[in-house]
Amino acid sequence: MDAGSKVYVPEIFGPTIQGEGALVGKQCHFIRIGGCDYNCSWCDSMHAVDSREFTRCEQLTQHEIVARVRALPFVPWVVLSGGNPALFDFRILVDELHDAHFNVQLETQGSRWQNWFNDLDALALSPKPPSSRMRFNENALVGIVKSLRPQVFEHTFLKVPVLTAPDLEFALDVHDTFSGELPLYVSVVALPNETPVDVLKRTAQVVEWFKEYDSRTYQDVRIFPQQHFLLWGHARGR
Ligand code: SF4
Repeated sequence: MDAGSKVYVPEIFGPTIQGEGALVGKQCHFIRIGGCDYNCSWCDSMHAVDSREFTRCEQLTQHEIVARVRALPFVPWVVLSGGNPALFDFRILVDELHDAHFNVQLETQGSRWQNWFNDLDALALSPKPPSSRMRFNENALVGIVKSLRPQVFEHTFLKVPVLTAPDLEFALDVHDTFSGELPLYVSVVALPNETPVDVLKRTAQVVEWFKEYDSRTYQDVRIFPQQHFLLWGHARGR
């Protein structure tokens, strides 16, 4: 994507905290990019997935996105989310965010490789489990992990949404695919119209399911409800 190309940007907001994964609790800004190659059954970001919605949002160049982020109070991290930002070449965006002294984390389902992944400070690979009704592309995910330079691999982790027991089994299988070298963060799904209490109950259920597995094999697995959902529900821009 050259400097003059524009993408749909449904949201830029912050400061807030990262609600999931290895950076949970860290102060950050979010950049949400429009467009996704998936359509998960419980997606909580349909405004960045449904083209009828995100094409009503403004279009910005990479430089304009960075200018919007720089106008916010400084925090150490910027999270690039979607949709799937991996559909685009964001090398300029990542470079300019680094020039402005931000660390950059990408969140992607791991369906597409981009060379700029090797410029990231943290990478959340979030393959979608059976309850999403999406088909998992293991070859694409393995290809991405193999292409990472060691410095980025060290800061890469799996973040798998879990709604059902088969979802947990899927998450642990993906963890096994990488011989346990990528930490696994299980992110308990919050369905539309659910309350934080519903999600805490589901988290307790996931913890019970996890007891059925050998804890010596899965020492680098962590189970969390989505903190941003507990704090703000499905509200946008938080
Ligand atoms: S990959 Fe993420 S953004 Fe895309 S449809 Fe699934 S949950 Fe939504």
